[in-house]
Amino acid sequence: MTAQPMPPEPADAFLPGTVTLVGAGPGDPELLTLKAVRAIGAATVLLVDDLVNDAVLVHAAPGARIVHVGKRGGCKSTPQAFIEKLMVMAAREGEVVVRLKGGDPFVFGRGGEEVEHLHSQGITVQVVNGITAGLGGLTALGVPLTHREHAHGVVFVTGHAKPGDSGTDWPALAATVRDARLTLVIYMGVSGAAHIQQQLLTGLPASTPLAIIQHATLPHQRHAVSTLGDLVATLAREQLGSPAVIVVGDVVLGIAAAARPRIATRSA
Ligand code: SAH
Repeated sequence: MTAQPMPPEPADAFLPGTVTLVGAGPGDPELLTLKAVRAIGAATVLLVDDLVNDAVLVHAAPGARIVHVGKRGGCKSTPQAFIEKLMVMAAREGEVVVRLKGGDPFVFGRGGEEVEHLHSQGITVQVVNGITAGLGGLTALGVPLTHREHAHGVVFVTGHAKPGDSGTDWPALAATVRDARLTLVIYMGVSGAAHIQQQLLTGLPASTPLAIIQHATLPHQRHAVSTLGDLVATLAREQLGSPAVIVVGDVVLGIAAAARPRIATRSA
């Protein structure tokens, strides 16, 4: 009889007095990592962000305190400073604190700011990756972010700048995406779509393929395939809104192919 290989001992523990930022993925609860499940199960306090599917909370221990801190959860958006204060307070009270965030904590999730704040308060913090919406969304349509014939790389960019920040230099980005043959994935781009479209058109042709994916990986996922020149018109016509990712580039051409029904050939 051959011995079963033993799974390695987890290198990290989720201890009282520490905080773990956990990526809950884009929506489908089966896209959680094993480490995320272990962290959720160890938590005594869970701070649950916007866009986290509550279905992942089945992994929480009975008796764990669950606090929704996102605006889509029904309450008004909880200010970031208050969330940071809550994390510090709970950690100092000796709780095992898990902060559940949509997608990946380090992709437009303010994870970096939260880690800096917790460090400044002397709190031990670790981060568990999740599948980011820009990756999960395209995969849900059967299309890769990179492809040897279509895209040499990928850029994740936000369409929403911090107040007072001049934001993304879209014309420079358009030129780079065009010259380096990159896929462009825009998060939080719906409300600023008119500006983004107009600015990207300074460097990319209106015929550049584009897809919009809303509620990616969830049962109510919807998407549209269009072109850069038609972005705003498509959003209006298809009534697509937030949360959505906008994917620009030739990889999108694969969506139509992937969506085509396969022809089954059966030999008699
Ligand atoms: N940390 C997250 C991103 C947070 S910013 C991640 O890694 O995915 C919020 C933006 O993410 C939304 O405005 C939208 O652009 C995108 N997003 C998050 N979940 C999504 C989903 N299920 N479908 C489409 N876009 C999503």
